[in-house]
Amino acid sequence: MDYSPSAKELSHFPFLKKAQDHIKKSFPPIDQLLKEEKGAFLTGLAVKRINQALASKKTIAAHFQHRDDEEIACYVLARIIVSCVQDKQLYDRLARYEAERAYYFLNAETGSDSETGWNEHAVLDDEHNSRIATYLAAEFRIDLSRDRMPLADYVEIVSVLHEDRFKLVNRRVKNGLVEIKKEELLQLLRERIRVILRRDLPYHVPKAICQQLAPVAESIKVEYQQQMLQQFGSIEESAFPPCMQALITALTSGTNLTHAGRFALTTFVHTVGMDVPAIAQLYARSPDFDPEKTMYQVEHITGRGGSGTEYTAPACAAMRTTGLCVHHDALCEKVNHPLSYYKVKKRDMAKMKKPVKTEPAKPEPGKTGPVNAGPGKTKKNDPAVPPT
Ligand code: SF4
Repeated sequence: MDYSPSAKELSHFPFLKKAQDHIKKSFPPIDQLLKEEKGAFLTGLAVKRINQALASKKTIAAHFQHRDDEEIACYVLARIIVSCVQDKQLYDRLARYEAERAYYFLNAETGSDSETGWNEHAVLDDEHNSRIATYLAAEFRIDLSRDRMPLADYVEIVSVLHEDRFKLVNRRVKNGLVEIKKEELLQLLRERIRVILRRDLPYHVPKAICQQLAPVAESIKVEYQQQMLQQFGSIEESAFPPCMQALITALTSGTNLTHAGRFALTTFVHTVGMDVPAIAQLYARSPDFDPEKTMYQVEHITGRGGSGTEYTAPACAAMRTTGLCVHHDALCEKVNHPLSYYKVKKRDMAKMKKPVKTEPAKPEPGKTGPVNAGPGKTKKNDPAVPPT
């Protein structure tokens, strides 16, 4: 589609190629920019953007306080910074946030009764689509003027969406085309934006640039870890998803785990707050337990082993591929990641617990309570952490 978006439109959809082209001449090369005051200012904006992506409650403002080229540069810098942090969950969070923003801006373009739209020059066609919306959708291979979509495209987009309404059995399919409502087209567009923005991360950032950004990357890591601890709180093994329960059961019954199984379990328990020695202890009942080798592997996977790369627990789709998705239950239908399962189940369990104001009973010998997060807090007699 032949359309030249305005600078303001590009700043609202900074992932468009035209947006990046638009700022090419506005700033010096990045290594130079980072040495300047302007670079520090833009880095600050990028950090705010990443922190927003990590926050549980996000605020997206349709009207920007900064210049259009600064908004676009801050988007690019945020992606460079997370690429230096090297954490897959950060890539996921940022891609999801950018897609959410785009979706919000598409809906808020012409405003509502309570808020004026951000795009005062929006021109709508007969279908009430603005030119930037049509252009953006076309860039992501979605035609907003049609109420149907090729089956292959549809299946690809909805494969990770869990809502029943998106399931193919609940759709009318005719001549290889799936019927879609107008409001759903934007939702599918949001999903496609997310997938494509995620696919392009991480960037291959030169080491020297990452070194310049190291203090910022470190602050993001710390913020993220704190958020994770807040989010997951103390470890509640009974809220672990069936796949992780099965891996722990296999371990404690003396079965050797496959490499994929070890990787999935280690990354999962690490993310929910188990520290490195506690994870190593988890493997102590494995028949081929080798303390040194185990520590090395655990430290490597959790990013303490020199590479700095912190791996993320595989999503359900990957768990299925490696045959680790077992004992699938009703909650599994609603999530696409073992960590989401854990979060939801833990929240539900907390809701069900009655507030009792009596002193907590001391555990009977041999019985255990929940495992605590953080160094030195893991209970030695927890079944997930066998005594050494
Ligand atoms: S659906 Fe996901 S959370 Fe449930 S068992 Fe399979 S991998 Fe685990």
